[in-house]
Amino acid sequence: MPFSKLGLPPTLVNGVKAMGYVDPTPIQLRAIPVVMGGGDLIGSAQTGTGKTAAFALPVLARLGKHEARGPRVLVLEPTRELAAQVETAFRDFGRFTDIRATVVHGGVGYGRQRSEIQAGTDIVIATPGRLMDFLNERTLRLDGLQILILDEVDRMLDMGFVKDVKKIIGLCPRERQTLFFSATIPPEINAIAAFALRNPARIEIGVARTVNKSVTHAFYPVGTALKFELLVALLEKTDFHSCLVFSRTKHGADKIARKLKAANHSVAVLHANRSQSQRVEALEGFKSGKYEVMVATDIAARGIDVAGVSHVINYDIPANPEDYVHRIGRTGRAQAVGEAYTLTTPEQAGEIRDIERFIGQKVPQLKLEGFNYNAPPPRPAMGYQGAAPTHSQRPAYGQRPNHGHQANSGPRPAQAPRPAAAHAPRPTHAAPHAAPAPRPPAAPAAQPRAGQAHTYIQPGQPEQPSSHSAPAPRKPGGLSRGGWTRRP
Ligand code: AMP
Repeated sequence: MPFSKLGLPPTLVNGVKAMGYVDPTPIQLRAIPVVMGGGDLIGSAQTGTGKTAAFALPVLARLGKHEARGPRVLVLEPTRELAAQVETAFRDFGRFTDIRATVVHGGVGYGRQRSEIQAGTDIVIATPGRLMDFLNERTLRLDGLQILILDEVDRMLDMGFVKDVKKIIGLCPRERQTLFFSATIPPEINAIAAFALRNPARIEIGVARTVNKSVTHAFYPVGTALKFELLVALLEKTDFHSCLVFSRTKHGADKIARKLKAANHSVAVLHANRSQSQRVEALEGFKSGKYEVMVATDIAARGIDVAGVSHVINYDIPANPEDYVHRIGRTGRAQAVGEAYTLTTPEQAGEIRDIERFIGQKVPQLKLEGFNYNAPPPRPAMGYQGAAPTHSQRPAYGQRPNHGHQANSGPRPAQAPRPAAAHAPRPTHAAPHAAPAPRPPAAPAAQPRAGQAHTYIQPGQPEQPSSHSAPAPRKPGGLSRGGWTRRP
């Protein structure tokens, strides 16, 4: 069904066309009529499904025309990046309307945000902290609010915003429409939903626990001391367009970025301790191709919507299984293909099992051919520098050795701006592996082809690099919320 049949006004259908969208995604098909009809909604959809348009389009339709009084719509987002991205989406979809949207988040001055609010805005897209500031100083009032949207609720709660969120809900008029979007709906979200929503429709798209089908993913077991060397070797042997590297900690992200820079990669860093201008510069630079690698933490990466991220590398296995799906969802967006590698260490057998149970799929364990798993750990003072080829020695994109990866469409000059379109689909370094999957559908799992650079490690016998003992049994007592390990 085309967008024009969903009851959206022509201004919005034209806005969608201008974005290049042809058909609605499944969540858009299902959510748009519910929201247009004024009903409450709980939507669980994995990242990259098009959920922003699923709420932004019908909300814009309901607003109709700009009104100078206070905001009629409030969208709460967990991170600045996500807030900025959603504001851009509202502006893009509403480009042929006169509706005004204002983003309100920390890390920047108050002045511009305050004057936009005072000038009269229809939609406020906010992170909870800065919103509370404006509410406390009474620049912003919510008594005229008609629609409240809580996006990425699970993340908002993980980040400790529960008190603020409850307070904000309490400040909204009781007569309103409320929409909840969350990748997962754990019990605490159901509890908040029970007091915040009235007879909500529930829309679950796909299974929130699955990895996008377009992403091929695999684990790479390695000893802790050689993790960085394996990361560099994977980057060297992969003809990537742009690669997102995940670290569990901010400090770790800085350290990885420093070492990758020393290994002559162009690197951006994104985490919560970076200033707003640094975050914007990192994201813009990554989008434009100025940086080929971006090192990020989970929270900062929530708002990353960059077309054409060809690879995700989990330098650290995610702290909870949901993050595995989110991280991997940064590639393979909007039907593009992507690859995701996760470095695992011998003591992480428990985390591996949690992820596999969560996504309902066995993830193959691969070994990078030619990588010396028995190398002595690098001396800390030398870092990686001695081992890396210099920039001039490094072949340009498209000319790197394939080592089991099929080449991209052709060489491109280093740091040339990437085209907006995602790179052409290409077979991955490994063919699909028919692993027993308790829950369909599952993303294709990787399996090596003969003579290729990635060797499959027999299921059930994860190869442990020498000098490392077998994986430790999972520690008892680490389970909560439905049995999955949560971030402390
Ligand atoms: P979201 O899940 O809202 O973050 O959207 C993920 C990506 O899909 C974004 O880059 C959107 O611009 C894109 N997208 C959303 N809806 C559509 C659509 N109907 N057709 C094509 N791309 C879309």
